[in-house]
Amino acid sequence: MSLRVLVNGAGGRMGKEVVKAVCRAADMELVAAVDPACAGQDIGVAAGLGELGVVVDADLAQAIQRVQPERVVDFTMPSTVAANARTVLSAGVHLVIGTTGLLEQDLQKLDALAREQRVGVVHAPNFALGAVLMMRFAREAARFFPGVEIIELHHDKKRDAPSGTAIKTAEMIKEVWRKPEAGVVEELKLAGARGSDFAGVHIHSVRLPGLIAHQEVLFGGPGQTLTIRHDSMDRESFMPGVLLAIRKVADFQGLVYGLEHLLF
Ligand code: NAP
Repeated sequence: MSLRVLVNGAGGRMGKEVVKAVCRAADMELVAAVDPACAGQDIGVAAGLGELGVVVDADLAQAIQRVQPERVVDFTMPSTVAANARTVLSAGVHLVIGTTGLLEQDLQKLDALAREQRVGVVHAPNFALGAVLMMRFAREAARFFPGVEIIELHHDKKRDAPSGTAIKTAEMIKEVWRKPEAGVVEELKLAGARGSDFAGVHIHSVRLPGLIAHQEVLFGGPGQTLTIRHDSMDRESFMPGVLLAIRKVADFQGLVYGLEHLLF
């Protein structure tokens, strides 16, 4: 039996990639696609697969009611993802969230709602295996270096900053890093010159056309530096992680935050 999957945000850059990945997966069936931006179109045509006979819906709640999916995958926007998630979980459907920009309090609420409904939510700010390893290695290095800063680099259409990956990395670093006493009082000639600050970890956000998703974690200690870098050159890099989450999300009740919990 194939898993019945609804893709929300199906007409976006990530959504189209998920549509292709789900259609190619032998154990999944694309039963609906939702995206107000391309409602009424055949999603197969929009995603470059040719006609699939799946016409894009504008309304998530109605589409869920109509097709009764077993999984919903959300790659939409920071401003809409929390409301989308409430709609999906209230309908008692397992949810995979790739959309970034959710705040700590949003995650707590989604966890509570998912537990109440006895369904799983997997939210990974980065579904690429290399990015998961980059974060893990950064956490390991943070035990040994007094200085650490993050540079995240993304395409110029990205809406949220800093990236969800950078925030998750800083959270993981914070678990083990002992921040040194401030050495100097800094005088900033321009506001924001030192980037944003998450628990003492500076995060610098670069936005440029031509980029996809990249991150460097730079460590400094006496007489040496260490740089850990990951690059997603293609959105295909996220798909094995997304498919894994679709398969495994029903093993959980409540929120799983980070792909590492499905991998290690
Ligand atoms: P995008 O191209 O802007 O796609 C988002 C799509 O969702 C657009 O077609 C948008 O329509 C649509 N949309 C907006 N509100 C909606 C709603 N309420 N219901 C259904 N669809 C809605 O963005 P993207 O580059 O695909 O990125 C999407 C999200 O994934 C971002 O938050 C990004 O940071 C994140 N991301 C995560 C990963 C990961 O591994 N977790 C990797 C890459 C990106 P309009 O154009 O009309 O607004």
